[in-house]
Amino acid sequence: NLQGYVPICLAHEDFYQRRLYQRIRDCFERPIVSAPDASFDVVERYSNDNNKTLKPTTRIRRCLNLGSYSYLGFAAPDEYCTPRVIDSLNKYSPSTCSSRVDGGTTVLHKELEKHVANFLGKQDAIVFGMGYVTNSAIIPVLIGKGGLIISDSLNHCSIVNGARGSGATIRVFQHNTLSHLEEVLREQISEGQPRTHRPWKKIIVLVEGIYSMDGDFCKLPEIVAICKKYKAYIYLDEAHSIGAIGKTGRGVCELLGVDPADVDIMMGTFTKSFGSCGGYIAGSKELIQYLKYTCPAHLYATSMSPPAAEQIISAIKVILGEDGTSRGAQKLARVRENSNFFRSELQKMGFEVIGDNDSPVMPIMLYNPAKIPAFSRECLKQNVAVVVVSFPATPLLLARARICLSASHTKEELLKALEVISQVGDLLGIKYFSAEPKKH
Ligand code: PMP
Repeated sequence: NLQGYVPICLAHEDFYQRRLYQRIRDCFERPIVSAPDASFDVVERYSNDNNKTLKPTTRIRRCLNLGSYSYLGFAAPDEYCTPRVIDSLNKYSPSTCSSRVDGGTTVLHKELEKHVANFLGKQDAIVFGMGYVTNSAIIPVLIGKGGLIISDSLNHCSIVNGARGSGATIRVFQHNTLSHLEEVLREQISEGQPRTHRPWKKIIVLVEGIYSMDGDFCKLPEIVAICKKYKAYIYLDEAHSIGAIGKTGRGVCELLGVDPADVDIMMGTFTKSFGSCGGYIAGSKELIQYLKYTCPAHLYATSMSPPAAEQIISAIKVILGEDGTSRGAQKLARVRENSNFFRSELQKMGFEVIGDNDSPVMPIMLYNPAKIPAFSRECLKQNVAVVVVSFPATPLLLARARICLSASHTKEELLKALEVISQVGDLLGIKYFSAEPKKH
């Protein structure tokens, strides 16, 4: 059990915090000075004058970007989105300077909520200024003391914090393991018991569409069936999957053939495929109405920046072809092709790559955390920027480099990245499988 190593490490807090963790943090703390497109400009180093001023050095390095979540490439200037975002900035300013109920609701917020609900096939939606807050603030409004949360072991920190803050009882099931989910449910209730005759006021199962550390899809059809059988609500976080997968970008429901009506609470963020900021909840009219009256993050937080809202509306229109072009469909096809090509090439080289085909999130297993800084630095030396992750985001000895691919990456860029990663893989001895012979 690799997770068993974590407490041992924590017992040596001094070692962990001063040495290992500092080295891991050092890997990619470099500011960037351009849009996070297929390539971006990275500040080589910066000096901090006794913590008084932060002085970027003039050395800027243009790097291939394999780390951002801009799956459809919308984080870069776009011929349809950008002029509209600039217009909205001129019209509304960057901030509404008030909450949704105190004058902070613009026409754009209303329009966005309609677009999101239609895109997801739900009756209504509510949007928030930050994805993280959407989870951490909404879950406690949905469930509290006397309720039961059953959460996938790899759920994102914002879900975990929302669950902990709710006061509900929390049970964790092994990642994507249907038999364990059912076992946990069976322990808590008898099959077929009506919702009103159970020891729990409410049961919510929390899952993600694509898991951000493993790059795999939630087994949604089976989980929906289990939730129906035990009359539990299902809460689906589509931060990484919405806009990125499915024939028309509608996420795991579309990809895996699940009727959106079977997912009670749909959550997602706009910070990945839509190249913007914020998060949403989509569901029934009653659910959204309830959240609008009760959720503190709706009532007391400043609303989403209007230009951010315009960016999302425009990106959705491009995805649906409402800009009058087929760019949206091409982007979706491209991110899928890029992901499947890159994954299979890495596997042919002998790397251990986890996650599912079609997923743009592609972890290369390093295992040993000591390899992390070397992997990141050796790639960067050759102008390839890769995000590396380890504890506490993953178990300590399951360190990995996490590649995120975009529709913006060209074939030439992917070939260059593969060449660099292959060389670094040889240098660090992390090709754990034998390579397939090259075809000539
Ligand atoms: N949910 C998941 C699954 C995430 O991966 C993230 C962040 N990457 C969030 C929520 C938080 O979203 P945001 O970064 O938009 O605040």
